[in-house]
Amino acid sequence: MKTYKQCNPDICDWCNKLSTTLISHRDLDEGFFGPEYMVCAGCRRKESDQAERELEDMGFDDDWYCG
Ligand SMILES: [Zn+2]
Repeated sequence: MKTYKQCNPDICDWCNKLSTTLISHRDLDEGFFGPEYMVCAGCRRKESDQAERELEDMGFDDDWYCG
């Protein structure tokens, strides 16, 4: 028996909505060795907004820090 996900491969792993903008993506919190998710553009946008806010809260500006 197939899971809902297997029958609907175009479903975002994070918001469970049908999407044509899915890209395999890792959760920033889980790092480079975390599991890959198929994530829609909306959720990725939300995640990067969130990450930006957290950086601002810590006193970083918009530039990526490449130490
Ligand atoms: Zn989504």
